[in-house]
Amino acid sequence: MHYDDSVDSSRQYLRLALEMIGKNGLPTDPLNYCIWYEYASGKNGKLNAAIDNHLQSNLSFSEEISRQLFNQYVAAESETVSALVSEELKKVFAEIIDAIKTTNQHFSKSETNLETINESIVPSLSESDLERIVGQIKREIKTLESSGGSFKEQLEQATREIDHLKTKLVRYRHEALKDPLTQINNRRGFEKTLKDTIGKARTNGTSLCLIIADIDYFKKINDTHGHLVGDNVLRMVAATIKESIKGRDLAARVGGEEFAILLPDTPFAGAMKLAEDIRVSFERLDLKKKNTGESLGKITLSFGVANYKKDEVAEDFVNRADEALYQSKNTGRNKVTGV
Ligand code: GH3
Ligand code: MG
Ligand code: MG
Repeated sequence: MHYDDSVDSSRQYLRLALEMIGKNGLPTDPLNYCIWYEYASGKNGKLNAAIDNHLQSNLSFSEEISRQLFNQYVAAESETVSALVSEELKKVFAEIIDAIKTTNQHFSKSETNLETINESIVPSLSESDLERIVGQIKREIKTLESSGGSFKEQLEQATREIDHLKTKLVRYRHEALKDPLTQINNRRGFEKTLKDTIGKARTNGTSLCLIIADIDYFKKINDTHGHLVGDNVLRMVAATIKESIKGRDLAARVGGEEFAILLPDTPFAGAMKLAEDIRVSFERLDLKKKNTGESLGKITLSFGVANYKKDEVAEDFVNRADEALYQSKNTGRNKVTGV
């Protein structure tokens, strides 16, 4: 997301967003803020079309629909944005090439190099591709400058723009993999790392485990104390999980109140112990409401742990962890089950 609107218009969007949230009987949680703020700003055409369609058909909104809208049109937007940044990069580039051509100077070698680089700028550039391309661009620009080109300032400006675009692109890519509420990875971030990690475990024959944890009776927390308290509980759970892991371990919020912990190079017994440690640390906790000090009662989580099986595809691996989690849920909750 790119909320660089002026203070006045942001305020107006926010007011409109709150109005829409109220009108549609939705909870004022960050997810709905994001969706309806984008809607009010009118900058996300696809999201607006989807919402308008829904409104026209007189269907009501639910949290499930909000989540779908967010995943489909807001989170995905970050990717669209990164494609747009690649487009901008291409434009800056085309300008440099044009400038070289119109000066009629004999920079044909650089010109060809630059044109080759330009062809390699595609919307799906990875971060390392981008790093490499920006490096190439800068080197070419340096060569041009040192050969006494008459458009030094233009080239310097282009270098600055390219640096700026690169930072922007890296930031958007990063945001697209992060959960705005808890600041840990989102499902997309998890799936991306999962694929890479499975690849490494396969190649190196190392162990790999996955824990899926789900807060018990979370709906009751929302219903009793409100969504804002629910959100704080989600933040606290994410932070606690994050603190319990180290190194290349990855924590992600993969659903409303569901978390995944990916543990490369970890034997099954180690993963079971970690899940049990996290479970106990919540059991011991007595959470209180920030402003009133009122106790929230015990918050517990159920866990499913899966040990990666040789040549298993990602989906089966995740499904097994999910099944283990459901076993924990069905046999009393606040439990760890391993498969
Ligand atoms: P169980 O022990 O079976 O897991 O029960 P549960 O109540 O935790 O599970 P259920 O799936 O019935 O409800 C999950 C609730 O999580 C419903 C939804 O309101 C809430 N939720 C999902 N995302 C968010 C969020 O971002 N913020 C808040 N506050 N609540 C959320
Ligand atoms: Mg739950
Ligand atoms: Mg759940």
